[in-house]
Amino acid sequence: MRTFLKSHKLDNVCYDIRGPVMDEADRMIAAGEKILKLNIGNPAPFDFDAPDYILRAMTDNLRNAQGYSASKGITEAREAILGYHRKKGLNVESIDDIYTGNGVSELITMVMQGLLDNGDEVLVPAPDYPLWTASVTLAGGTAVHYICDESSEWYPDIEDMKSKITPKTKAIVIINPNNPTGAVYPKEVLEKIAKLAKENELIVFSDEIYDRLLMDGVEHTSIASIDPELFCVTFNGISKSHMSAGFRSGWMVLSGNKSGVKGYIEGLNMLSSMRLCSNVQAQYLIPAALSGSGAPDKELLPGGRIYEQRECIYTLLNEIDGMSAVKPKAAFYIFPRLDAAKFGITSDEQFVLDFLRQKKILLVSGTGFHWEQPDHFRIVYLPTVEELRYAMGEMKDFLSTYRQN
Ligand code: PLP
Repeated sequence: MRTFLKSHKLDNVCYDIRGPVMDEADRMIAAGEKILKLNIGNPAPFDFDAPDYILRAMTDNLRNAQGYSASKGITEAREAILGYHRKKGLNVESIDDIYTGNGVSELITMVMQGLLDNGDEVLVPAPDYPLWTASVTLAGGTAVHYICDESSEWYPDIEDMKSKITPKTKAIVIINPNNPTGAVYPKEVLEKIAKLAKENELIVFSDEIYDRLLMDGVEHTSIASIDPELFCVTFNGISKSHMSAGFRSGWMVLSGNKSGVKGYIEGLNMLSSMRLCSNVQAQYLIPAALSGSGAPDKELLPGGRIYEQRECIYTLLNEIDGMSAVKPKAAFYIFPRLDAAKFGITSDEQFVLDFLRQKKILLVSGTGFHWEQPDHFRIVYLPTVEELRYAMGEMKDFLSTYRQN
């Protein structure tokens, strides 16, 4: 088990919170320019408030949350998590298999630190949520990207995944529902991934933080529910479902057959206790958050903000010459394709930078999500319909003359 960090090369990792685009945005803001931000998946600045019952759970428990808790978290939170995931079909033995974290982010880093030795490989989707690649790399491993197929609703390309398994492969990461594509994987796709993992004795890490932000009546299946024997680590939290990103409240659940991973679990327990515990006040929000009816939030239904913003951005993007996008079914991201040949685009980062300078609208380039070709970018559609309409009008105007090379 790794308990220390070496000087890993993070040069090829796009954890694109910083970089030339953000530096330019900061410079423009400091110079007093107003920028429309379509780059961050943080609901609060877009007037999405946490529900009152979440805020009440926070203030009501101030006194109870003064001391450290058990390293994996308070019993009430882990019992609520156990109930939630058992209902979704996970084979979880007890609350001992549940760890709370300061957001899912902390746990993503922890599971890789505990697993990887130098040279070990982990299959990570392209495009990905870049913390996954960064965490694999930071732990000394190599992230090997498998393709998600745009022509097939952005589902993982199973043949590509299969072709990238080597004797060094330790795990497969899936992000379902997906950031940045908004895809939700059907059972048949998950069954194929589960089979591949089992045949090759790979751990499955399933990031399901958007599983309560579904639209169009789509149902979410946890890969861990497909095969009760498959060892999976499932990640979830309330940052997005309860518009509470700042409270830093997430968790992970170990399920399936643990007989082959006892040493790994000991390592996770050690890493968990090394950080003492996650923020205790934020743990008190979990029972409140998971006690809901399970019905989709009104914002995700026709007439609701997220739903209508998705309809708006999807329609307007597909009306622009040289642009197309698959309709997202969950979360609040869309990952459009640009006709790179038409616009002479060889650097998507340059495209985003040029758009920022000219139109004062901030996007994230596709390569920031480890998508290799310079022909995609991500939009966060949390701003209002009016703002999205304005942004797409500006995009149309920008592309009417844009030629990079
Ligand atoms: N996983 C995915 C796919 C995300 O998109 C995000 C945040 O954007 C996270 C994890 C991090 O979540 P948390 O706020 O729980 O750390």
